[in-house]
Amino acid sequence: MAPSPPSADETRHVLGQARAWIDEWIEEGIEIYARGAASQSPLAPARATEPPATQGSVSTETSHLPGRSAPWGASPSLEDVRAVLGDCQRCRLAEGRRQIVFGDGNPEADLLFVGEGPGEQEDLQGLPFVGRAGELLTQMIERGLGIPRASVYICNVVKCRPPQNRTPLADEVSTCRAFLDGQIDAIHPKVIVALGKPAASLLLGRDVAITRVRGTWQEYRGTPVMPTFHPAFILRQYTAENRRRVWEDLRAALERARELGGRLPD
Ligand code: URA
Repeated sequence: MAPSPPSADETRHVLGQARAWIDEWIEEGIEIYARGAASQSPLAPARATEPPATQGSVSTETSHLPGRSAPWGASPSLEDVRAVLGDCQRCRLAEGRRQIVFGDGNPEADLLFVGEGPGEQEDLQGLPFVGRAGELLTQMIERGLGIPRASVYICNVVKCRPPQNRTPLADEVSTCRAFLDGQIDAIHPKVIVALGKPAASLLLGRDVAITRVRGTWQEYRGTPVMPTFHPAFILRQYTAENRRRVWEDLRAALERARELGGRLPD
C-alpha cells in the first residue's frame, strides 16, 4: 500500500523546523546560495585586483589603520575618531552606502553595544539600530534593563551598509575594525555587549558560533564582553526561550557594569 501523504499539520511542522534551522544557519553566518547563481562568496574580494580576503571571517591581528598605527593617540575623543574616518573610501562598502553610520549615544557610556552593520533605515537616517531590529534593541534596553537608550552607546562592526544587508566580508571587517577600536578607546566602556556572530567573532578574535558563546564572559583588550543574540535573530526566532536568554545576558552585562563602578541609572 502506498504511504499516505503527510497531513497539513505535519507539513507545517516540517516547514517550521526547516525554517528554524535555516534561521540558525544564517545567524551562524552560513550563507545559502541559489544553485548556479553567480553570487559572490562572503570571503571573496570585491575586485579581481584586490588581494583575497582572509579565510575565516575574523582577523586576529592587532587593530591598525592599514599600514599605520592609529593616528588618534591613546585617549582619543569620538570626534577624533570620526574625523579620521572622514568620507571613508577604504573598502567597497563606500560604493553602495548613502551615509556613514558611525554610532550613537553617550560618549561616556558604561555599556557599549556592538552590532553587525547598518541596514536600510540606518543608512537612510545615519543612526545605528533605528529599523525593526533597532526598535527591539531599544525596547530591550529601555523596558528590559530600565535604562534610557541615550545612556548607552551603540555602534557596529562596519560603519557602512553592506549591499542587500549581507554579512560584512572579512576584509571589510578588518578594514573597519580600527574605528571600532578607536570608539572603544574613546568611550572606555565597563562592558561591551556583542550582538550576534560578526561582533562576537571580531571581539573574541576567532570565528565563533553565537549559540555556543552567548551568555559566557569574554574579554576584549581588557574590557569584559558579553556576547548575545542579535535582535534581528530574536525577531526571526521570537520564542520565549530566546527572549529569556537575551534577557539574562543583558541583565548580566548591566550588573557587571555596575559592579565595575558604572553609573548606570536605576
Ligand atoms: N543591525 C545591525 O547590526 N546594526 C544596525 O545598526 C541595524 C541593524
